[in-house]
Amino acid sequence: MQQVKGDTYLLRGSPSTLFYIDEQQLYMIDPGHGGKRTKQLRKIARKANKPVTIILTHYHSDHVEILSRNLDFKYKAISSILDRPGIEYTEYRIGMTFGVPLESWKEALMFKAPPVKVDETIKCGENIGPLQTVHLPGHTPGQIGILTPDKVFYAADAVFGEKVLENYLVPYHRNPCQALETLEKLRDLDYEILVPGHGPVVERSQALDLINTNIEALKRFLDTLVEKAGEGRSFQDIVEVILDGKTARSAGEYILVEQSIRGGLICLAGKGLITLDTSSSIPLWKSSNPGSQ
Ligand SMILES: [Zn+2]
Repeated sequence: MQQVKGDTYLLRGSPSTLFYIDEQQLYMIDPGHGGKRTKQLRKIARKANKPVTIILTHYHSDHVEILSRNLDFKYKAISSILDRPGIEYTEYRIGMTFGVPLESWKEALMFKAPPVKVDETIKCGENIGPLQTVHLPGHTPGQIGILTPDKVFYAADAVFGEKVLENYLVPYHRNPCQALETLEKLRDLDYEILVPGHGPVVERSQALDLINTNIEALKRFLDTLVEKAGEGRSFQDIVEVILDGKTARSAGEYILVEQSIRGGLICLAGKGLITLDTSSSIPLWKSSNPGSQ
């Protein structure tokens, strides 16, 4: 565990886990997954010897899986009201993440998805003790970021590290338009150090560059969707055009790409930039102004 600043500490990983320790409590933000992390958290809780509050920023399995294991210390788990169902109900989590809530998927997932119990919920924006929560919708509907009194901001999966952006075919967000608005909002938030869920810790000046890189990647993705929809394409056609000959590393990744594209088309339709033509038996996504592209 390394000190980030003041009473804020970090355990690097993917996702990284953030800690805030005050007189009364030990706060753990996004405990993560896996046996190794379980042992590390037990050790940290034993050493702190204080009541533990665990905060789950959103329902994705890699952020919450550990709570399905035996942690051997008592804790209270808190999430946002909006993301609680995804944490507590596996079918809902898989359905919301991949769009295909297949029972058989549980075995194929990189992170197994056992249900995890939440003890308390907050409304997005409500504080948890000394920690300020910030609603970061887009990646999931109820994702929250955490700002510690040391002005360290845990951005969860609202901001991806550069390597993550490079390694994935498209940035994964359930609602990419909303994720873009969240990123714009993060430019103005008052923090000194930013901790992405997946990626290295950055000081404010670099954080603004990283946020801009995330914004550009999302804008490129959304603009390409509008452009490629053009005068009308089926969903499967759009997926192939967006992949542009690149192959996903697994069926799971392909399905995540499909889900990001579906999310993008739906949110662009909400903005009037794309329309869904249902006049024939194959629904076609069309750019609203194909001539201007
Ligand atoms: Zn996530």
